[in-house]
Amino acid sequence: MTIRKIATIGHPVLRKVANELTREELALPETQRFIDDLVETMFDANGAGLAANQLFEPVQICAICIKDNPRYPYKPNYPLTVLVNPELTPTSDETFVNFEGCLSVPNLRGEVQRFATIKVHAWDRHGNDLDFDVRGLTAGTFQHEVDHLLGKLFVDGVKDTRTLCTWLDFERYFQAEFVARAKGIVAKYGS
Ligand code: ZN
Repeated sequence: MTIRKIATIGHPVLRKVANELTREELALPETQRFIDDLVETMFDANGAGLAANQLFEPVQICAICIKDNPRYPYKPNYPLTVLVNPELTPTSDETFVNFEGCLSVPNLRGEVQRFATIKVHAWDRHGNDLDFDVRGLTAGTFQHEVDHLLGKLFVDGVKDTRTLCTWLDFERYFQAEFVARAKGIVAKYGS
């Protein structure tokens, strides 16, 4: 496994819609090795998720794992999940305002509105169908990662640009209020 370099905002690979994979392409040893690298790089960088195009590979693969994440200590844990060709469908009109950051947008955070309940349809890394629901902060993480595969970054969704802040100023000026709000989201949606 190799820790790979992460593309940062401004690189065109982050702005292209990533290509769907066939089951044959997914089964190739190089694709499986790439998924190992994606997961390893996500863990190394303390990401809650990572999308393939963030590693300069424009294919529809992303990984999510939240385990006592130091970048997002208020996020509930979520097991390692690899999504291939994911599609997300909101299952209600309910939304919440998330405070997001991104490994491809160094030292910047901001508020983004996200659907609170979504259905996930994808393949796992072996091409098996996945169908499950995610809610609350976890649903926000899934929307952030799948947005990457559509060429979108969280800054595109920041409506109130006064919420844009460095990580240090997040701690100073936004964290207390947001963590209180996040607890309410977790209490309501269980995640
Ligand atoms: Zn990101």
